[in-house]
Amino acid sequence: MSNSLEMQARNLIKRVNPCRIVPQRQMRSEPWQGESLIEIGTRTIFSEEHDMFRESVRKFLEEHVTMTEMDKWEEQGMVDRDIWLKAGEQGLLGVDTPDELGGLGGDFLMTCIVSEEISYNGTSALGFSLQSDIVMPYLSKYGTDEQKALIPALTAGEKISCIAMTEPGTGSDLQGLKTKAVKDGDDYVINGSKVFITNGYMADVAIIAAVTDPTAKRAAEGISLFVVDTKTPGFERGKLLKKIGMKGQDTAELFFNDLRVPSSAILGGESGLNQGFFFLMQELARERLMIGVQSISMLEGAFERTRAYTKDRMVFGKPLIQLQTIQHRLAEVKTEASVGRAFCDSAMRLFMEDNLDYTTASMAKYWLTEKSHLNISKCLQLFGGWGYMWEYPIARYYADSRAGMIYGGANEVMKELIARPIMS
Ligand SMILES: Cc1cc2nc3c(=O)[nH]c(=O)nc-3n(C[C@H](O)[C@H](O)[C@H](O)COP(=O)(O)OP(=O)(O)OC[C@H]3O[C@@H](n4cnc5c(N)ncnc54)[C@H](O)[C@@H]3O)c2cc1C
Repeated sequence: MSNSLEMQARNLIKRVNPCRIVPQRQMRSEPWQGESLIEIGTRTIFSEEHDMFRESVRKFLEEHVTMTEMDKWEEQGMVDRDIWLKAGEQGLLGVDTPDELGGLGGDFLMTCIVSEEISYNGTSALGFSLQSDIVMPYLSKYGTDEQKALIPALTAGEKISCIAMTEPGTGSDLQGLKTKAVKDGDDYVINGSKVFITNGYMADVAIIAAVTDPTAKRAAEGISLFVVDTKTPGFERGKLLKKIGMKGQDTAELFFNDLRVPSSAILGGESGLNQGFFFLMQELARERLMIGVQSISMLEGAFERTRAYTKDRMVFGKPLIQLQTIQHRLAEVKTEASVGRAFCDSAMRLFMEDNLDYTTASMAKYWLTEKSHLNISKCLQLFGGWGYMWEYPIARYYADSRAGMIYGGANEVMKELIARPIMS
């Protein structure tokens, strides 16, 4: 276009749509428009304050969560307590829990930033999200004053928490729970067992789902959540479970043998009796969105590592990235990661606006976890045999990303939830 034609075109746009000529520096681009999918300063949902927070989280992970630490934690099957305290000190826990309750009072996007950075980095050993995004919202929204008093120690990383719903015999169908809590005077006596519990081995505080009314018309109306100090006699830990991924994250079996707790341990106190399923339902949208957030971020991190590798790796006398089939593969992965990112950011925006519905959260969880794992598998292929070696981070991303399709509700269950309004 000649200069004069360009001028005319610009003037036209100016007259027709003044919004189109916002100076470039005031706009935030989307990550796929920039140099890297994990570039700080991109994404229209964020502000400069978010960027500053993200920089501090990235720096923290670079300093404290090195591959040497990861190797050590993976060997132990759990992290050192020390990293929880450091994270607390840095302000990475309870980020969006209200400050008047002892949280940090940030917004939901800030807590997402912590999860995104951990996922970009492929350092899945850190079970912070379970504490900040699942346990703390239960306590802050539904807890009694006594239960809310746990929040400052959780924010500081002085206490670690878990939530125990899944049992050896039931996971997807929580209405099939067998763990029972039987009233005995002013107390409840809990018997049963749980499995696959994140942070379960290290936890100081556990939220336990148990049947309190076996005669309820619908099983969902007879379940309560109990907030329990894990030092209480009768709370026992089984072995740390060996997993195919997330090897440094503590995942445990728990056993309750005549675990006696006061009725004040029911989440929400007496008024929380038989409300457990209702509480769980209220928080599922956030939990599922967070799994989507983590999954798409893992894919973005994996993509950037793969891109760097294919530039360095020489095959047949030239860098791998010079082969057209490899370029196509990277183009496919980048496109799918970007489409996923756009949907994920829009779901995050909906959550911020208090408008995230169950169907959208289920779509985010299902699609983002599946696309993440399938595309990470494509990335791994480009590393050849090195991609199959644990010392290469891509192997970790591959194994870690598999879990998202199972936990937080298996993806088949997500599809049922998505299908319900389609059928109505
Ligand atoms: C790494 C990890 C961490 C976890 N952390 C926790 C935790 O902290 N706390 C906790 O309580 N639980 C946790 N879980 C458990 C997780 O939530 C359950 O594994 C999950 O809900 C599935 O339950 P299940 O394993 O009993 O599978 P099942 O319910 O036995 O289902 C088996 C498979 O059947 C299929 N399926 C199930 N329902 C349907 C359906 N309606 N339609 C079609 N197909 C279906 C799916 O393919 C599913 O994967 C964790 C799991 C893992 C792997």
